[in-house]
Amino acid sequence: PLKITDSVQDTRISVCVRKRPMNKKEITRKDIEVVTIPKQDHVIIHQPQVRVDLTKYLDNQKFRFDYAFDENADNEMVYRFTAQPLVNSIFEQGFSTCFAYGQTGSGKTHTMGGNMATHETTTKTKQQDWSKGIYALASCDVFRLHRGEYRSLGLTIGCSFFEIYGGKVFDLLKNKNLLRVLEDGKREVQVVGLQEETVTSDQQVLDLIKRGSDMRTAGATSANSNSSRSHAVFQIILRRGNKLWGKFSLIDLAGNERGQDTGSSDRQTRMEGAEINKSLLALKECIRAMGRNSAHVPFRQSKLTMVLRDSFVGENSRTCMIAMISPTMASCEHTLNTLRYANRVK
Ligand code: ADP
Ligand code: MG
Repeated sequence: PLKITDSVQDTRISVCVRKRPMNKKEITRKDIEVVTIPKQDHVIIHQPQVRVDLTKYLDNQKFRFDYAFDENADNEMVYRFTAQPLVNSIFEQGFSTCFAYGQTGSGKTHTMGGNMATHETTTKTKQQDWSKGIYALASCDVFRLHRGEYRSLGLTIGCSFFEIYGGKVFDLLKNKNLLRVLEDGKREVQVVGLQEETVTSDQQVLDLIKRGSDMRTAGATSANSNSSRSHAVFQIILRRGNKLWGKFSLIDLAGNERGQDTGSSDRQTRMEGAEINKSLLALKECIRAMGRNSAHVPFRQSKLTMVLRDSFVGENSRTCMIAMISPTMASCEHTLNTLRYANRVK
């Protein structure tokens, strides 16, 4: 079994890549697989040996990351190398964040929310197994530390879950209520009225994750639906009495290809695209500023970075980004964009 290396554990910012396997449809269509992960920190996009106009991709492109997961890695493995090393710091009054970045269909929700499990019922239905996503795995570890090592702190644990869509914040635990974000005199940012539910068991957290995720996708009908255009933020909040002690924010970002919808003829789509583009650029700048220990973190540039302000400025803040990629040639351009973005975050 692999161990978390010191290098991953010691850095404040880690950037990993996860390649998902080819799905049935892609195999049936005979899509070409162009991504390989020959070593645990390398991703290579191949020039396939076929007659297709590939002038744009002629050079084999190579990127290095803290860790690169191939299609055989499961969520537990990804979790162990990304979010798990950050759990401790929230008990040390830190603000940790874990981002799932990538194009729609690359595996962000699968990684954060949980994989699909087939349940043998009269009709074969597929359901998300919420216990196998990073939201739930992180929550389990928080409970474990709360009952063990950090028991004497006497903390309480709460969860909140909200969505940022078109620059607006909606509560996923309470009727998709529209919430205001305020910056108070002490330069603290608050999401006013955000539902925070106290949790005392793994099962309670799972119920919350399911409830919030269902709320997120309610009314959505296609791959172009809302969830690909919104950022979902799941937070595990530690309090000591009324005082905020630490926070872990786990974020399923909007599909990065949506940021390119800025040229669309549809006004709504164009506006959403511009907003996504803005927030993903702001996120990159904030993480970079954090890495340089810069006094100036440009968090005001988007709602997403604004609500995560604490996570970029505190001394105990740590973050990881998981860049999800699809394996096929059809996704090549988006994959390159994702890898370039992830490459620049550090
Ligand atoms: P995203 O949230 O990035 O749009 P999803 O997580 O919904 O993408 O994944 C798209 C599809 O691919 C889903 O059906 C999901 O179950 C499947 N999938 C994603 N990642 C994996 C993986 N690592 N292994 C198996 N199936 C995956
Ligand atoms: Mg998704």
